[in-house]
Amino acid sequence: MSEIRVLSPATVANVVCGFDCLGFALSAPCDEMIVRIIERKIVRIVNRDDFNLPTKPEKNVAGAALLSMLRAIDADFGFEVEITKHIKPGSGIGSSSASAAGAVVAANKLLNERFSRLELVEFAMDGEKVASGDRHADNVAPCIFGGFTLVRSLNPLDVVTLDFPPLFVTIIHPQIEIKTSEARKMLPAQVSLKDAIRQWSNVGALVSGLQKGDYELISRALEDFIVEPVRKILIPKFDEIKNESLKGGALGGGISGSGPSIFMLSETLETAQKIEKVMREIYEQTTIDFNIYVSEINSEGVKFVN
Ligand code: ADP
Repeated sequence: MSEIRVLSPATVANVVCGFDCLGFALSAPCDEMIVRIIERKIVRIVNRDDFNLPTKPEKNVAGAALLSMLRAIDADFGFEVEITKHIKPGSGIGSSSASAAGAVVAANKLLNERFSRLELVEFAMDGEKVASGDRHADNVAPCIFGGFTLVRSLNPLDVVTLDFPPLFVTIIHPQIEIKTSEARKMLPAQVSLKDAIRQWSNVGALVSGLQKGDYELISRALEDFIVEPVRKILIPKFDEIKNESLKGGALGGGISGSGPSIFMLSETLETAQKIEKVMREIYEQTTIDFNIYVSEINSEGVKFVN
């Protein structure tokens, strides 16, 4: 095996009440990546798109993740990685995570699956650090494990994979920039015990609803009392999108990652497509460009396409 080709999916993190812990993988969009072993002890990045992302490995999340992996095995070889991004950086749907996760999953295949998925999440987190300044796993975990995941703890890393019923996602990505660092600054330093109780009750209920396939419980549990109220002002038409989507039959949803994307979950593809129309009509009244994706939750994560 001389090279491995993968499709690495977009992901939604900060799933409503599950800020910094709950995430899931989408079926589309995906980045395309090819990883090869090379003789030189370096990581070489070849960007095949127009996003002008760094080619220095330590500045590119894919490169940083692969460097971390090479250090762990004290390798006498290196990797070349070719990246064709379809997930726009800064979209809030895990653009950097797709690169970090795709790179390490593909490289691990070339190394005869030497590392567990949990270990791959650790390497991918070293990649994520380049994009956001800290190691976090709420996007790379669902990207690597597929489906819905809960990151119970970062240190030691503990990723819980969740059962879930068929779910469809509609995501609108308004083409405005929200810096993750700015969105972080808006977070409250403290939360009241009352809000904390409401929040963790919803996380428990959401996990149970997913497990049982109880769509009504999932819908009731999709409430966020802590982050959404302060961050939603960054996203034009947020309330209208949410209210009209709920009226249109969506189960619920909220800000994807740190925005600006907004996602809504639905029980059927038909409803998810109806929500696409609802979102489109609302954003067509603005001057902001946007993309909308309708996708099933992807239970596989990074996919091999050789
Ligand atoms: P998203 O909001 O879609 O999750 P992020 O904010 O996580 O996107 O990541 C985007 C940031 O990461 C940008 O500053 C970008 O320059 C940087 N970055 C470095 N390498 C990559 C890469 N391979 N793919 C995407 N972003 C990268």
